[in-house]
Amino acid sequence: MLEISDLTVKYGAIQALTGVSLRIGQGQLVGILGANGAGKTTLLRTISGIVDPTGGTISLNGSNITQRKADDIVRLGIAHVPEGRGIFPDLTVRENLIVGAYTRRSRSEVHADYASMLEMFPSLARRERQDGSMLSGGEQQMLALARALMARPTLLLADEISLGLAPVITQQVFEHLKALRERGITVMLVEQNANLVMKNADYIYVLKHGQIVLQGTAQELAANKDLTDAYLGE
Ligand code: ATP
Repeated sequence: MLEISDLTVKYGAIQALTGVSLRIGQGQLVGILGANGAGKTTLLRTISGIVDPTGGTISLNGSNITQRKADDIVRLGIAHVPEGRGIFPDLTVRENLIVGAYTRRSRSEVHADYASMLEMFPSLARRERQDGSMLSGGEQQMLALARALMARPTLLLADEISLGLAPVITQQVFEHLKALRERGITVMLVEQNANLVMKNADYIYVLKHGQIVLQGTAQELAANKDLTDAYLGE
């Protein structure tokens, strides 16, 4: 459903991505691994239309979306859980979730989805009227995920969703991601935590200095452990 071809991104003189090509099929959970500064966040921000590429193309279900603006990209079905969660601390849980549906027209559908988010994330239901800032780290991450789902994405981009979470909470978040995959939602996640990705992703790309240096299933990468460790700097 997502096809990226020869993508290049520069920030002034800094070349953040060089000739990145990848394909993600519908309903796959794909992991992007790489050390600090490898270009993982840049890749997600470019797909989301937040950063403009200097070259290459991004296609969604066969249409070229490379030049589309960020809010168009959301309308086309791509939602982004940003690094650091990006929830609004002074808005309530409810308000944060409703903001996630800003591109949608049908109020009744938004309300139905809101109810289903509270069902999916009971800890958010308990804190519906509290400000985002009152939530624990794990709850904030659930809120960021639920807010992205309020856009009814077909492709979810998640940036370092495990960062700062206790392992048991991380596992809960990943169970949610796997449940989304069962519903046919494609998930692309960026992580520094290689074990987590190796355990959960259908296919993995490894980025280094803005280039894809390795790709395969977890089994394929595990069979090549020395190489994988070398690229991940472990
Ligand atoms: P991290 O895990 O630390 O977020 P990352 O793999 O997500 O790392 P990016 O944040 O995409 O990597 O950064 C890729 C390169 O681009 C790095 O060299 C970084 O310093 C640079 N970079 C990122 N954002 C900007 C920006 N807004 N302006 C200038 N350079 C940037």
